[in-house]
Amino acid sequence: MNRSEVKWFNNRPGSISMLFLLIAVCILLLPASSAAARRQAKAADAEPILRVKMGGNHTKFSVTFPDGGWLQNHRGRKIKTYRSGATFSWSLPTKKGRRAEYRGESIYLYGNKGVLKLNSSLYRGHLQADVTDRGSRIINHVGIESYLRGVVGSEIGSLSPAESLRAQTVIARTYAYASRGKHGSEGADVCDSTHCQVYKGVAAERATIDPAVQATRGIIMISDGEPIATLYHASCGGMTSDNDKVYGGAPRSYLRRVICPFCKDGTNYRWSRSIKMADLTKAMRSEKVVFSRLYDAEIDAPGPMDRVTNLILHTDTGIHKIRGTTVRRLFDLPSTTFVVGNRGLAREAIAAAAPVKSSPDMIKPKMATIRIAALVDDASEGPNQLMILTASGLKRTLRPEEGWQTIGLYQGDDTVSSEVISRAAPEANRRPTGGPLDQLQLFGRGYGHQVGLCQSGTIEMGKRNWSYRQILAFYYSNVALRSLDY
Ligand SMILES: [Zn+2]
Ligand SMILES: [Zn+2]
Repeated sequence: MNRSEVKWFNNRPGSISMLFLLIAVCILLLPASSAAARRQAKAADAEPILRVKMGGNHTKFSVTFPDGGWLQNHRGRKIKTYRSGATFSWSLPTKKGRRAEYRGESIYLYGNKGVLKLNSSLYRGHLQADVTDRGSRIINHVGIESYLRGVVGSEIGSLSPAESLRAQTVIARTYAYASRGKHGSEGADVCDSTHCQVYKGVAAERATIDPAVQATRGIIMISDGEPIATLYHASCGGMTSDNDKVYGGAPRSYLRRVICPFCKDGTNYRWSRSIKMADLTKAMRSEKVVFSRLYDAEIDAPGPMDRVTNLILHTDTGIHKIRGTTVRRLFDLPSTTFVVGNRGLAREAIAAAAPVKSSPDMIKPKMATIRIAALVDDASEGPNQLMILTASGLKRTLRPEEGWQTIGLYQGDDTVSSEVISRAAPEANRRPTGGPLDQLQLFGRGYGHQVGLCQSGTIEMGKRNWSYRQILAFYYSNVALRSLDY
C-alpha cells in the first residue's frame, strides 16, 4: 500500500498543486530504493470497486446493451453475446411450479464499453443478478470514482460552486469507502437509496460534477487513521451540534459544535410553524397524550435556540412532556431546534434563555451583560421587544432605553435569570394570561440533524472562494485528507 497522507489546516489557502507537492515530498522521504521498487512492481492500487445493491427484490428486470455485451455464468464462462441495442429480459414464471430461469445461480452482464441499461436507466460497470425462486437481487459492480459521478448530484445541487461540489464529493467518497461491506449479508457494499447514498448512475451525472470528482480523485477524510463518519445536513441555522448531543454514544473529536455564519441567507436558516389546536390534539392522541385545551407551552433545552429535549404543554388534563424528536416527527419540522411562541404575543423576535439559576452569586457577575439568543444576528437589527423563554415561562421584554447589550447566538454557559431580565425591562415578569390557545406557534432554526457539515453554509463558502479543504476543515475538526493511491 503506497498511501500518502496530507495534513491540512484551517484558514490556510490551499491548492491542488500544493497537495501534490506535499505528496511528492512524502514520497521523497520514503527510502528511495523501496519507493522505486514499489513503483516498478505496481504503479498504483486498483481503484476500489463498489458493489451497489440496486433496489430490493426484482420479480422481473431487463438489461439492454447499448454497445453490445455478454452474459457470463458464475464460473466466468461467457454463455451468450448480445448485439448493440439487444436486451436480456428475466422474470419470475407466472405459472406455479414453473422453474425460474437461472434459479439458484448468479449471472453477470457486461457491456462492451462498460455501460449497461438496467430497465430504463444507464449504469457504468457491470451487473450481477442473484436469482432465487422469489426473484432476483441485482448488484452493480462499479469503480468508486464512476459511482461518485452518479451520486454527488443527488446530495447537493449540481449548480453549486465548484469548491462546494468538491467538498461534497470528498464526503461522498469517504462515506462510500468507509461503507465497504455495509450490506455484506446481501453480497453488497452499499445500496442505491437514502439508506446509504442515492445513486442513479449515468442519468445523475452532470458536467459540473465530473470535474469535482476528477479534482479530488482518491481523496478521503481521516481521523486517527480511519475514514471519518461524514455527517452533513441541509442547514445548521447558525451552529452545528456535537454528535453525542444528537445521537448519544461517544463524542467524536471531529464532530464538534461550530458556529456557522454562512447559511444565514439560505433556506430554513429560520422557520416557523403554526399548529392548529385540532391538529395538535389529534397528533398528541397518537402519542397517548389526551387533552382538549392548551393554556401554555414551553420547552426544555440545554441552551437557547438549542435542540429541544421536551416540549411541555400546560393543558386541561395537566402538564404533558413530549420529546423534541417526537414533535419533529409528528409535525414534520425541519429540525428539533426551536422555541415556542405561544399566546400570540408579538413575534418580531423570539429568544430563549437558559434555565434560571437561583443563586444570586452566580448571577451577579453577569448583571452587566444580558446575553440573549434571538432571531437576529446583529445588534443593529435589534427588535423592539423580545420574548424570552425562562424556566418559569415565556416572558416578553421591551427594548431597554440603552438598547440590547448583547444580541446574538448564545454561546457558553452564561445564564439569563428573570431577575436580570426584569432589570432590563420592567415588563419582563408579566406572565401572559388569558383563555386557551387556538394554535401552537414554533420558531426554529436549521434543517436536518445539524451534525457535521452544513450544506447551505458550504455553498456560501464556495461562493466566497473558500477551497474545499478549508470548507471541510471548518466543519470537521482535527481531520486530515488521505489520498488513496490509485
Ligand atoms: Zn444501504
Ligand atoms: Zn450553517
